[in-house]
Amino acid sequence: MRPLPQRPVLPNTTQAKLKTATSRICRSADQKSTAAKVFRAARRTGWFAPVVRALGRMTGEGQPCMFCDSNEASDVDHFRPKAMFPQLALTWENFLWTCGVCNRAKGDSFPQDTQGRLINPVDENAWDFFFLDEFGNLTPLWRQAEQQLDRRAVSTCDLLKLNRQTLQQRRHRRLRQLHRSVLDVLELHRTNRIKLTELRQRVEAWRTEPFQADVADYFLRGPGHSQSPFAELIRLL
Ligand SMILES: [Zn+2]
Repeated sequence: MRPLPQRPVLPNTTQAKLKTATSRICRSADQKSTAAKVFRAARRTGWFAPVVRALGRMTGEGQPCMFCDSNEASDVDHFRPKAMFPQLALTWENFLWTCGVCNRAKGDSFPQDTQGRLINPVDENAWDFFFLDEFGNLTPLWRQAEQQLDRRAVSTCDLLKLNRQTLQQRRHRRLRQLHRSVLDVLELHRTNRIKLTELRQRVEAWRTEPFQADVADYFLRGPGHSQSPFAELIRLL
C-alpha cells in the first residue's frame, strides 16, 4: 500500500449513468441483491470502461493492485462492500482497483468502529500509518499517546494479509535491488561518470516501476528517503 493520486473527474455520461444506477438501487425493496445485479451488468457496459481506465491511471505503470502493489489489478473493489453498503455499489468514490487475492481477502468485511476502520489508499496517506522495515514488512506505526500500534493499520494489515510471505519477500527483494542501484549511481556520481539529468531520469524510472512500487515510493518519496543511502541520493536531485 502506498499513497495514490486523487481521483480524476469521470466523463459526464459515466457520471450520469452511475447516478441513475444508484437511484435504482436506493428505490429497490431489496437493495443488496439489486446492487449486486446492477453492478454486474454495469461492469459489462461501455459507459463503465472510463471507471476502469481512470483507476488504472491512478495506480500507474503496470496497474498494480492498490492494496498490495504486487499483483496486476483486475477487480473493481468496493472499499465499503456493496453487501453492507448497497447504496454505494455504483459510487465512484467507493471504487478501488485491486487484485483478486486482496479482493477475496477483504470479502464483505469492513470494520465499522473508527478505531479499526480500514485505510483507504486514495483518501489517506499510507505513510501516516505504516513504515517499511528493512525486511520488507509493512509495519503499523506506534502511537505514543495510546501506547499501542495504530489500530487501523493493524486491522488493515490483518484483513488484507499485507505481510503475506510472497509480499514480504517481494518487498525485501525490491528494497535490496533499489539499495544496490542507489549505491551504484552514487558511485558513478562521485567519480563524475553520470550527468545529473541522467541520474534524475534513473530515479524517476525507479519511482514509476510497477514492481513493488510501494518500496520505491517509501524510500524515494516517502519517510524512508531520510535513510542512508537514499538521503544522499535525494540531496543530489
Ligand atoms: Zn492485491
